[in-house]
Amino acid sequence: MKLQGQTALVTGAAGGIGREIALAFAREGARVAIADIAFEATAAVAALIHTLGGEAVALPMDVTVEKSVDAAVSSAAARFGGIDILVSNAGTQIVRPVEELSLDEWKGVLAVHLDGAFLTTKACLPLMKNSTRGGTIIYMGSVHSKEASPLKAPYVTAKHGIMGLAKVVAKEGAKFKVRANVICPGFVRTPLVERQIPEQARALGISEQEVIRDVMLGDTVDGEFTSSQDVAEVALWLAAFPSNALTGQSIVVSHGWHMQ
Ligand code: NAD
Repeated sequence: MKLQGQTALVTGAAGGIGREIALAFAREGARVAIADIAFEATAAVAALIHTLGGEAVALPMDVTVEKSVDAAVSSAAARFGGIDILVSNAGTQIVRPVEELSLDEWKGVLAVHLDGAFLTTKACLPLMKNSTRGGTIIYMGSVHSKEASPLKAPYVTAKHGIMGLAKVVAKEGAKFKVRANVICPGFVRTPLVERQIPEQARALGISEQEVIRDVMLGDTVDGEFTSSQDVAEVALWLAAFPSNALTGQSIVVSHGWHMQ
């Protein structure tokens, strides 16, 4: 059990990649707080972990609202006695050309990714700093933290920004044994990506098959999607890593779409 005795809070854990990370952490012995704006689905993930013999709590959290983040983090810390691992994973996407985006749409995407990463970090850092064990923060970036694609301006901007936050937190956290790293997945077939397939087909004037083959997987080494399990494996490895030797880094897991 790689995370025995540890506690984790995962945002956006009601579905997709966050759910898979929460399940993987619970299987390795962590007590997990499942935080998401979609509370009913969050409760279902916690219930599944209980039936598998793990320990989890479901918490409503809107990562863009400071009071909501603070309340959920306090509640998780009170229940588990602290937070050792934060996975800032909640995300959203809008597929549209720059000139067709409203300011509210732009701000909305930035808020979930950047305000969410900032607010959860701000709430969890004091708990980690006050713990003799320190802690680890994992941000969900993307290949879009390193590359651009058309039609995704706010998402690409936010995912690049997360890299900056992680590097600052790595520097500020080091003396308290708090590490910060970013996972950068390629396309994973979650609801976030399923929604984009018809949207991109319409915007680019091509078929959905062509979106998958050429736009999403065209630059991979083998034409395959990355899986939620692949991303959860990397999260587990980062969470269990024992020292500050691995901090301020970004790990790309994308079937070779992006090579560093
Ligand atoms: P998803 O849509 O399946 O899950 C995202 C979760 O975030 C949902 O459960 C949603 O309810 C939650 N969420 C949205 N807004 C929220 C808010 N304001 N407060 C709290 N929770 C909120 O998407 P996913 O593909 O699992 O994405 C998870 C993360 O992985 C995101 O940060 C995404 O950008 C990143 N990512 C995904 C892919 C991919 O191909 N799917 C690739 C690279 C990075």
